[in-house]
Amino acid sequence: MPVGVLEAPSGPRVLKSGDYEGQTLEVLMFNEYGHLVFVKKMMDKNLVNGSSSSEFHKHLEWLLGQGENRVVSGVCLGCHTRPVTRFSVLGSEQDGYSMSALYTCCDDRACEEMIALLAIGKTPIFLPVRFSSLMYFKYKHDRLQVVSLLKGLFNLPQRINRDIAFQFFSQ
Ligand SMILES: [Zn+2]
Repeated sequence: MPVGVLEAPSGPRVLKSGDYEGQTLEVLMFNEYGHLVFVKKMMDKNLVNGSSSSEFHKHLEWLLGQGENRVVSGVCLGCHTRPVTRFSVLGSEQDGYSMSALYTCCDDRACEEMIALLAIGKTPIFLPVRFSSLMYFKYKHDRLQVVSLLKGLFNLPQRINRDIAFQFFSQ
């Protein structure tokens, strides 16, 4: 195993207490990503204690890392060759955002410009197809759209459970 790659856990991690008791970290990646980022930051600073916190911390670190390196099977709508790595959104925090799998592309600047032209007079914002892009959105209704988009891009069903989620992040 290459240095820096965390070993994958054997199954989803169920929360034993707190607001999300009974839920798994894997499903919370979709539903409460910001909370997981917050918990990870707290754990990094040693602000959370507990006998199992080291193992929990490692699992969370692994999971958040996997959320950054998932691969989309579809190809860029600009070049029809390279894999999709970016999605675009139109709108604003105030008015809400709109987004669609139709407006996704690879990292190539020319492809991004081609997708931007489809917005006709508006300027789309391009974000990486990663779970951390959820942090760009302040409001839940926008984040729900992003989650739905990510599920579509990653060929996941809209209704996911802990097993589907764990399998997806373990790939
Ligand atoms: Zn492209």
